[in-house]
Amino acid sequence: MWDFSTEPEFQAQLDWVDEFCRTEVEPLDLVFPGAAYSRDAKARALADPLRQQVRDRGLWALFLDRELGGPGFGQLKLALLNEILGRYRSAPVIFGTAAPDTGNMEMLAAYGTDEQKTRWLYPLMDQKIFSAFSMTEPQGGSDPSLFLTHAVRDGEEWIINGEKWFTSAGARADIIFVMCVNGMFVVPRDTPGVHVAEYPALHNHIRYVDVRVPADHLLGPQDGAKVLAQRRLGGGRIHHAMRTVAQVKLAFDIMCERALSRQSHGKVIADHQMVQEAIADSYAEINMLRLLVLWTAWTIDNSSTRAARTQIAACKYTCAKVLREVSYRALHIMGSLGTTDLTPLQAMWSSAPTMAIADGVDEVHKVTVARNVLRGYQPHPGLWPTEYIPAKREEARKKYADLIAADPDLAAWADAAHLRGAWGVASPGQPQRRQAPPANA
Ligand SMILES: Cc1cc2nc3c(=O)[nH]c(=O)nc-3n(C[C@H](O)[C@H](O)[C@H](O)COP(=O)(O)OP(=O)(O)OC[C@H]3O[C@@H](n4cnc5c(N)ncnc54)[C@H](O)[C@@H]3O)c2cc1C
Repeated sequence: MWDFSTEPEFQAQLDWVDEFCRTEVEPLDLVFPGAAYSRDAKARALADPLRQQVRDRGLWALFLDRELGGPGFGQLKLALLNEILGRYRSAPVIFGTAAPDTGNMEMLAAYGTDEQKTRWLYPLMDQKIFSAFSMTEPQGGSDPSLFLTHAVRDGEEWIINGEKWFTSAGARADIIFVMCVNGMFVVPRDTPGVHVAEYPALHNHIRYVDVRVPADHLLGPQDGAKVLAQRRLGGGRIHHAMRTVAQVKLAFDIMCERALSRQSHGKVIADHQMVQEAIADSYAEINMLRLLVLWTAWTIDNSSTRAARTQIAACKYTCAKVLREVSYRALHIMGSLGTTDLTPLQAMWSSAPTMAIADGVDEVHKVTVARNVLRGYQPHPGLWPTEYIPAKREEARKKYADLIAADPDLAAWADAAHLRGAWGVASPGQPQRRQAPPANA
């Protein structure tokens, strides 16, 4: 069954979210930027009541199953929610859906023991603790076979050594998921031997030097880190794509409002055809991205993240591209104002290259899509492609052989078929011949 509608009850929730974000979250962002992420008591006093309102509406950590404390709405509803949240800097953290915690929580939910969930998952869900994900290494990010960080078992402990690069929020995380060549480990950041370098400031360079963690800090099976990372990144990527839909819709709103507000050369700029082209192309691209993301979220809900991996990879590079194109057009239509930081557009446009690198560079995802798609195809057996019309026509004639043999009119028609294209239209440059009528015409 095909249905693009939203259940009225959930639409009512979305309407509430829209209003709540405009009246509560955006003012907090504008006046106290960063308060929702801060551990400062005064900041928490501002943000915690908003979190409580979200909980009271049953919208906290929407993507998690009921037994884990979420409402179990799944990815499709999260996508619809994120189409709103992604417009506001702090909304994801106020709704318990912020990166990098969401992906880490999904990984813990899928692979953690009951004890591990109690120790880390539930505090993460309550934002009593924050997490980071340490996978990329200085010598290479796109190719996991270049990673060197490893753990050695020593009695009831593991000893981790290695160097990680671009661990987002690593400096402020309570726990870090460290991908080793022989397993995924949960490392409390204050463990001796965890050295966070001074820069980069937000995405940290971390050295792990003889870091000892108890044996039960291994998450999932030994040597299972790649599978866990895929699980984590799959979720993370689709969440980024959902928030990107919100961003490009914001850019579109800004662009359309301005197009109707500004005059140039005797008319409102919305009446200039090249402005109309920018709006029309953006409209189509945003909706193509949106439907791709929603279809992917639906697929995850109805099968698994793994089953949706080709779609997730397509979302990943498509969202970077649409963000780049739409934010550029919106910025351009804003003219000089667009080049300042007085609207969200400059930041949005400059985040587009980042989107094409974070969670795996676009090229790698394109390779994934092409490789997976090509698995459904075979090379054609002979010289000609399957859709080579003369060969298909010869084959099709066999079906009508008796009819053609019995009726000269139909035989003439069939013999002239090569003069007409695949859809019965004369090919360019072909002489127009009188077509033999059907026998009963
Ligand atoms: C904002 C942001 C946040 C991030 N957060 C985290 C995090 O929390 N934890 C974490 O572990 N990592 C994080 N990363 C790192 C991210 O995963 C890596 O940057 C990414 O995997 C690419 O690795 P790299 O930077 O080493 O680039 P490289 O692997 O060196 O790639 C550089 C370029 O080489 C080319 N290239 C590479 N491979 C191929 C290929 N197979 N085919 C064609 N061309 C190719 C592409 O042009 C590519 O852009 C983050 C990155 C960003 C930008």
